Amino acid sequence: MGTAPNVHGLELEAAGVEYDRELGIPVDDFLRTSNPRIFAAGDVCTENKFPHIESAAGRIVVANALFLGRQRLSAETVPWCTFTDPEIAHVGMYVTEARRKGIPVKTFTVLMHEVDRAIADGEEEGFVKLHVREGTGKLLGATVVASHAGDLINEISLAMSAGLDLHTLATANQPYPTQSQAIKMAAGAWVGSQRKSVWSRILTKWLSR
Ligand SMILES: Cc1cc2nc3c(=O)[nH]c(=O)nc-3n(C[C@H](O)[C@H](O)[C@H](O)COP(=O)(O)OP(=O)(O)OC[C@H]3O[C@@H](n4cnc5c(N)ncnc54)[C@H](O)[C@@H]3O)c2cc1C
Repeated sequence: MGTAPNVHGLELEAAGVEYDRELGIPVDDFLRTSNPRIFAAGDVCTENKFPHIESAAGRIVVANALFLGRQRLSAETVPWCTFTDPEIAHVGMYVTEARRKGIPVKTFTVLMHEVDRAIADGEEEGFVKLHVREGTGKLLGATVVASHAGDLINEISLAMSAGLDLHTLATANQPYPTQSQAIKMAAGAWVGSQRKSVWSRILTKWLSR
């Protein structure tokens, strides 16, 4: 249905704060408005309109306005979930976005019907896709479609925020059986591909002697 910013009656003109009745209040990456002594946070000024992002924006504004911070909104990891059945969740970059930016990307996919707990729960619909910068273990983003995608995406979001690589996700121990093993399995597929490429390099070198 959509939402609209409510900027009416705030006397923003008097404060020298620019606004648009449809788009809200433009801010820079530090959440400063056109009057650099006034900040904004919330759906009224951010591109991603989710409560968890507005909470982060509020934290950034407090740090930047009151404690001489230089925190940027663009540095935030932005997960989201649509609560359909199955749920659809995403964090970070999309493959198309990575390609547009010229970043080499490879996707590792595990289908939920390969995951023991999902089978036991009768929740086999969906998948976990990890988007990885090719040649590195750096996670660029992930898409999860699953009964509990909103919960599963949290582990990936935390890994991205903390700068953890795929090797850590693949080797961290998890209780068995859980649905989040889909993430470990996808990360494991990346580890497997790395091993293969090392062996194929050695083999190619040996064969070309
Ligand atoms: C129907 C619906 C369902 C949603 N479901 C989800 C979901 O499942 N998951 C999800 O991540 N996000 C969801 N969202 C989005 C989420 O609700 C918003 O992103 C979030 O509430 C934004 O927080 P905010 O503080 O910026 O704005 P708001 O929560 O809208 O708060 C703004 C506050 O400012 C007050 N206010 C407005 N104008 C003035 C004024 N002139 N003077 C003083 N006070 C004023 C309002 O009364 C309100 O209390 C949903 C939104 C809607 C509308």
